[in-house]
Amino acid sequence: MTIENTLSIIKPDATKRNITGSINAKFEDSGLNIIAQKRLQLTKGMAKKFYEVHKDRPFFNNLVDFMISGPVIAQVLRGENAVKLNRDIMGATNPKEAEKGTIRNEFAESIEANSVHGSDSLENAKSEIAFFFAEIELVY
Ligand code: ADP
Ligand code: MG
Repeated sequence: MTIENTLSIIKPDATKRNITGSINAKFEDSGLNIIAQKRLQLTKGMAKKFYEVHKDRPFFNNLVDFMISGPVIAQVLRGENAVKLNRDIMGATNPKEAEKGTIRNEFAESIEANSVHGSDSLENAKSEIAFFFAEIELVY
């Protein structure tokens, strides 16, 4: 049994469509606890820094513009195997490939506007959480 924290971001396509509650229900119904959460408007600098690993990918500039196109909700999800569990709840990056019942299958608009971000490893979860939250903001 490994209790982990992972970073989630509800993306602008989802905040714009007012479906953040439906997305949070998916996390909570699967046993993840939302132990920190804040709504914010990313700046271009923040979005570029957050997605720095993708800076050489052809979709990078569009991704940054999309991520600053409206408010996002940064959140920390906590639970058993939270990193992998959250990736399973999210579904595949491309909603056409996302399994039924996953967030991206049900809510994503496209491979870019795919409603949620989730850390892909425990190591990345730690640095991504630190990007948005101070230790005292994680409440459980
Ligand atoms: P994930 O979010 O599933 O971890 P990646 O880390 O590979 O996926 O990509 C980061 C984000 O970049 C994706 O969630 C999506 O918003 C965007 N993206 C990924 N691949 C593409 C693509 N081929 N075209 C447009 N946007 C993409
Ligand atoms: Mg990723």
